[in-house]
Amino acid sequence: MSGNNASMERRQTVGVAVGPVQIGGGAPIVVQSMTNTDTADVAATVEQVRALAEAGSELVRITVNTKDAAAAVPAIREQLDAMGCAVPLIGDFHYNGHKLLSDYPGCAEALAKYRINPGNVGFREKRDRQFQTMIEVALEYDRPVRIGVNWGSLDQALLAQLMDENARGNQPKDAAAVMREALVVSALQSAALAETIGLPRSKIVISCKVSQVQDLIAVYRALAARCDYALHLGLTEAGMGSKGIVASSAGLAVLLQEGIGDTIRISLTPKPGGDRTQEVIVAQEILQTMGLRAFTPLVTACPGCGRTTSTVFQDLADKIQGYVRRKMPAWRARFEGVETMQLAVMGCIVNGPGESKHADIGISLPGTGEAPAAPVFIDGEKVTTLRGAGIAEDFQKLVDDYVERRYPKRAGSIQA
Ligand code: SF4
Repeated sequence: MSGNNASMERRQTVGVAVGPVQIGGGAPIVVQSMTNTDTADVAATVEQVRALAEAGSELVRITVNTKDAAAAVPAIREQLDAMGCAVPLIGDFHYNGHKLLSDYPGCAEALAKYRINPGNVGFREKRDRQFQTMIEVALEYDRPVRIGVNWGSLDQALLAQLMDENARGNQPKDAAAVMREALVVSALQSAALAETIGLPRSKIVISCKVSQVQDLIAVYRALAARCDYALHLGLTEAGMGSKGIVASSAGLAVLLQEGIGDTIRISLTPKPGGDRTQEVIVAQEILQTMGLRAFTPLVTACPGCGRTTSTVFQDLADKIQGYVRRKMPAWRARFEGVETMQLAVMGCIVNGPGESKHADIGISLPGTGEAPAAPVFIDGEKVTTLRGAGIAEDFQKLVDDYVERRYPKRAGSIQA
């Protein structure tokens, strides 16, 4: 896809293997996510990890905050393996990670990567000692770590030191700029300390998460200019609904366009009882709409206007997008390149035929006053016209036939 050009312009970073998944070093940008279950609740966590992985999350992070959570991690791994879900698990540690990783070797073993927040490792002389313990466990189990600095838990001693130095300088920067610098310095100093302890660069990913788009862009540009570690990119506390999606997309798009970012996570706040997998879909759609990766065929749909007062085309666009998402696990296993398929569902004759011709398979529904007929275009040619109440089902059948015909079968694939 056209994204090959964009991905070739990506910044060179040191590749980090997390189980079978590579972050950085020229690998495709990895989508990851995080559970919000109590990790000690094995059944709930297994179910959510499975759902996130099935949605396309290539790595899943779980919080490891208590002894019960650490004790549950091996069982979570075993149950996932037993159901054929091999997605690597990342442990998220704060405050007591050094103890939990040391006291629960089964947890250290079952996790494919450890996330360490340098601001939450400990205070004063304990900080470096506890950080060292975590790095030593990573070395013992041959695991990579993410040095994950966060705006909300920034190392206060480091911030105070940089504020003091700034105040004594000839041209003091504003407080926000010093804060941003402190985030970058915290990540780089911690990564350097990890290297001093013996962790190679190929085992280190770093991140500096903030909650404002302009801060995110400034901080990651600075990180990218000052190191070649693989970078985990994401806006923290992005928020709920469209605000979280828009803020994450705006910030990440600027950086991804500059070749910055090797793995992404979208930190959406779900509605109570909402679907956690939305953060995976948003991450995939950011990468796919930017032409950086393809995951699932996307449906181009017009916004609708006064020329089509019916909601038929909205229903159809929604049904078709849902249909291809449901079909993708089976299609992906059987057909090479099916994720790049482009569909169009258009509301009337003004742009409908034109947009549909540009898609691999598109349908132009009748607008108000137009004849009740929906021409279908495949590879730019009109192939048929659908009519009647079963247009959605008929169109889905045409999509199925198109996939069968157009995309080569993978070797060894079996009929779904
Ligand atoms: S394709 Fe037709 S219905 Fe859709 S936005 Fe354009 S003019 Fe309106």
